[in-house]
Amino acid sequence: MSTPPAPSIPEAHAGAVLTIDLDAIAANYRLLADRLDGAQCAAVVKADAYGLGIDRIAPALAAAGCRVFFVALIEEGIHLRQILNDTGDPELVQAEIHVLGGLMAGTEEAFDASRLVPVLNSLDEIHDWRAYCRQLESPLPCDLHADTGMGRLGLPAGEVDKLVEEPSRLDGLNILAVISHLACANEPDHPKNGRQLEAFLDVRLRLHQGQACLANSSAIFLGPEYHFDMVRPGVALYGLGPVHGQPNPMAQVVRLQGKIAQVRDVDTPQTVGYGATHQVEGPGRIATVAVGYADGYLRSLSNKGTGYVGDTPVPVVGRVSMDLITLDVTSIPAHLCLPGAFVDLIGPNNPVERVAEDAGTIGYEILTGLGRRYTRVYVGGAGGTSGAGGA
Ligand SMILES: *Cc1c(COP(=O)(O)O)cnc(C)c1O
Repeated sequence: MSTPPAPSIPEAHAGAVLTIDLDAIAANYRLLADRLDGAQCAAVVKADAYGLGIDRIAPALAAAGCRVFFVALIEEGIHLRQILNDTGDPELVQAEIHVLGGLMAGTEEAFDASRLVPVLNSLDEIHDWRAYCRQLESPLPCDLHADTGMGRLGLPAGEVDKLVEEPSRLDGLNILAVISHLACANEPDHPKNGRQLEAFLDVRLRLHQGQACLANSSAIFLGPEYHFDMVRPGVALYGLGPVHGQPNPMAQVVRLQGKIAQVRDVDTPQTVGYGATHQVEGPGRIATVAVGYADGYLRSLSNKGTGYVGDTPVPVVGRVSMDLITLDVTSIPAHLCLPGAFVDLIGPNNPVERVAEDAGTIGYEILTGLGRRYTRVYVGGAGGTSGAGGA
């Protein structure tokens, strides 16, 4: 039994259909796990599993063998604990959920109640978690996050030194892992990778409790010396290429099909859309598709994005508006693009990375921005093809 999916939009009502391939996610998990030579493969499922729906994706990853999950926020952890409990599978009920965002004051009991592992990011957080453990007289699990150069979250070098000088600051804690995070892992030649690796090795010499965990998706591909005891990929599980400028070994997970609402013949002189930014140059046809920036189809794709009808590219012309985009379909035979037909906006010909590049951003932002108005169809997974749902 999994969490009931959110009410779904009937496909006939849908402006667009977002298909999410759970088998591709499972295959990506196994591809990464197989590279590890013994290290454990966790999964990062923050932000609703990068926008793809944690209700469906966490059980699929668990079925592929994942037993350790990372989320960003406590609320995400509470939700995931419920999802795993609802499976009724004793092994999944025991799965670990680590919360990267750390311990906010006053949340100790909620962490404990859902058996969440706080990633402790500062001496203050360590102090608070210890105080809570002491009160319960029970060493509850936690991670320590050392900042080795990301400059975002984690214990700065000086606070690591303090812990080493005064080890009693860690008394009464059950430290599952010491983690750190790389700033430039998707650029294999970046000198910062090696510097952070050295810094993390040094941290581990001095703080050797629990597992060592450094690598995100990209860092898994930097080589075995980055794998340590556990890795925590996110984006590669969802099909994005982990290494900048290299062929993508991951299976594609998402397909987004926008539905044609109207097709019109156009002729000069005429403009298309807000701001009249596209001038029709000659006789042609424009298809209006029911997807817009309110769905995460970014406005920066105005006059830049590309859809596909079959294998034929059709450019986005004019501005992206809230609920609609317009595409020049002059090159497509009229009977292949009638109202109700689909145009691929993300698919084999235009993967997430390509859309991101056209929009001037990164694939992570495209994924996590995928709209709530899409009809979501999950294919694969234990139950085979299943209906729309998810958040
Ligand atoms: C988001 C995140 C990850 C996962 O990164 P990917 O690049 O998506 O693999 C790992 N570790 C931390 C600390 C993160 O914030």
